[in-house]
Amino acid sequence: MFRGDPTLPFRDRRKAILVHGCFWHAHENCSISRVPKTRSEFWQAKFAANRERDARLEGLAREAGWKCLVVWECELADEKRLATELRSYLGPTRAGRSANCKQGSSRPEGNTKSKYKSRLRRNGRRL
Ligand SMILES: [Zn+2]
Repeated sequence: MFRGDPTLPFRDRRKAILVHGCFWHAHENCSISRVPKTRSEFWQAKFAANRERDARLEGLAREAGWKCLVVWECELADEKRLATELRSYLGPTRAGRSANCKQGSSRPEGNTKSKYKSRLRRNGRRL
């Protein structure tokens, strides 16, 4: 995770999507992430440090109870596959989980949210 890299937190799910640039995060076996020919030792050390930092930050997030999904820059080209992967990772939307929600609405309205929460508690599920 670097400044400028999109990190998308979904707090209610305790899940995050980390979008990594293939070059800066040294994506393995990726055509975008070639080590520059000039100053290659510098770049290799830089990429190793970046990967180490990625692993440390993801470890901290997981220790705090968050799940992380890394999406690589090169994976953004296949939108259909990406959409399937993200849907699978994030699970059903709040609207899809709520029977009180009007069809086509992405968020419960008015007092629906608290009714939704109390129904979940009755069912013994954590929010
Ligand atoms: Zn890549």
